[in-house]
Formats: sequence, structure tokens, C-alpha cells
Amino acid sequence: MNITNVNLSPSIGVTRICFNKRRRSLLAMPQKLLQHKHCITCGKAITVSQDFCSEECETDHRQLLSKKRRQLLFLWVGAVAILIIVAFISFSG
Ligand SMILES: [Zn+2]
Repeated sequence: MNITNVNLSPSIGVTRICFNKRRRSLLAMPQKLLQHKHCITCGKAITVSQDFCSEECETDHRQLLSKKRRQLLFLWVGAVAILIIVAFISFSG
């Protein structure tokens, strides 16, 4: 089987394409791509029932998610703080 992972986006919303390089070759034996998924973290081929290839990848993914969540929270707090400051300045002056 000839599976190639192509990571199109470096962000978390990972898009990967599985394709068979020999698909267009006339000499190629008919090949079946088995039902599979890819590990969200590292992209290894895994069975459909799994989400990650290992505990390590699952931990990495959870850490990345919580980091992103924290960044989003800081962004919201910052935006609200700026809004409050601008409102305070415009109403006091
Ligand atoms: Zn993995």
C-alpha cells in the first residue's frame, strides 16, 4: 500500500489527504485503501475506532487545546479591557 500524508495546514485544524500514487498506473495491481484515520497529532495511520496513535499524542493534543483555549481567553479579556478603557475615556472627557 502506498499512502502519503500531505499536511496542508500547519494549524490545529489539520487537513490531510490520503492518496495512492499508483492509482493511474495501468500496471498497478488493483489496490484497496483500508478504512483508516490519521492521528490528530502526528498523522500516523490508525484504525477508525481510535483518535490517537498513542497516549503521548493524546496528551500532546490536550495540552495544545488547553493552550489555545487560554490564548483565546486572554484575547477576550484584552478586548473587553480595551473596550472598557475606550468607553471610560470617551465618557469622562
Ligand atoms: Zn500520533
